[in-house]
Amino acid sequence: MKLKELYQEIILDHGKNPRNLRKTDNYNKDAKGHNPLCGDNVHIYLKLNENKKVEDISFEGSGCAISMASASIMTDLVKGKEEKEVKEIVLDFLDMIKEKEGLENKILNDDEKTKLMCLSGVKQYPMRVKCATLSWHTLTSAINDFQNITNTEN
Ligand code: ZN
Repeated sequence: MKLKELYQEIILDHGKNPRNLRKTDNYNKDAKGHNPLCGDNVHIYLKLNENKKVEDISFEGSGCAISMASASIMTDLVKGKEEKEVKEIVLDFLDMIKEKEGLENKILNDDEKTKLMCLSGVKQYPMRVKCATLSWHTLTSAINDFQNITNTEN
């Protein structure tokens, strides 16, 4: 199977059957995000434990397949990670989507990186980049206790 087809398949799978599409019980951080250009909405719920580890993360929302797949893959990958690792993964992902060839963090294993690289296909479509990055910016807002709605146009 070609890499492009594999990427497509993973996105379709996550878009159709999003993981962690629910509301975390007893979450202690959350944030909402909106992408007006496409109409994507996401609400991220995060539960950090006393060691600043992501005990649980989930999301609710609606939008296009890319935005849902991105939130699904993101929540899957950051669960169980420490807060500072999550921040590093987020920055690495955003750099990759914007300009870098690949991912550079040492936190994710190769399988996990492959899942993230699926989203690299949107790089050539600036409108779709916002769909792919919405949940990531919103996760950053949640971690930083930023209460306003995260808007991809601001
Ligand atoms: Zn979208």
